Amino acid sequence: MNKKYRKVIIAGNWKMYKTIAEARAFAEEFKKIYQPSDVRVAVCAPYPQLPFLVEAFRGTGIGVGAQNVSEFDKGAHTGEISVDMIADLGAKYCIVGHSERRANNGDTDELVNTKVHALLEKGITPIVCVGESLSERDRDLTMERISYQVKAALYGLTAEQVKKVVIAYEPIWAIGTGRTATDEQAQEVCFNIRENLRAQYGALVSRKVCILYGGSMNAKNCAGLLAQPDIDGGLIGGSRSRTLPRSSAKAAGRSKP
Ligand code: PEP
Repeated sequence: MNKKYRKVIIAGNWKMYKTIAEARAFAEEFKKIYQPSDVRVAVCAPYPQLPFLVEAFRGTGIGVGAQNVSEFDKGAHTGEISVDMIADLGAKYCIVGHSERRANNGDTDELVNTKVHALLEKGITPIVCVGESLSERDRDLTMERISYQVKAALYGLTAEQVKKVVIAYEPIWAIGTGRTATDEQAQEVCFNIRENLRAQYGALVSRKVCILYGGSMNAKNCAGLLAQPDIDGGLIGGSRSRTLPRSSAKAAGRSKP
């Protein structure tokens, strides 16, 4: 499978870290070392930091994203933030169905699907997280679990909409644990996701969908992961290395458009 059909994305998931001052310091430092390339870079930050980051990264090509969004478009939903609101703030991406939200905040497959529809309607790219638990992997249920999650997240989308979705394969046992999937394990699952997309939506769609790997990805292990034919980038959370080396872009195998 040739990556020239897809964009390569390196996205950061800041989770609930960084004050505005810390985000400001990060943005200033990051802008100094960032070099535009054909690899897309995005920072998915807590809501209060989005307007500042959009401003700080304006004109740089660095995208800004949210980490969650309400399934409702408006109404009496205390504490929620709608798609229109994150679009107003300038978000271009939104993580959906992260395993932490699935485990702690009741994000079901159905809810994830509703959010994906809502985001696409407003032109925001959903980064849909899917992943198996360690016990599911041990019981050989990984492919079944991932296939179900992907199918459920994309339910009711047109083929054109599916092309715009980013899928992040994040084995739960690898998130924040320092235990990364091997290159082969990650590739096997990402290949399987693409095969399922091909079976359901056709080859033209499946080769366009960007599939990321996430789970303790860092400067040391990223090259092998990004060199895999079906891994088009990374979703990176609390990894200790603050930035990926430039060689990671090369390893992702994308030639200039
Ligand atoms: C994540 O939370 O999406 C993630 C990949 O975290 P980490 O890089 O810390 O494993």
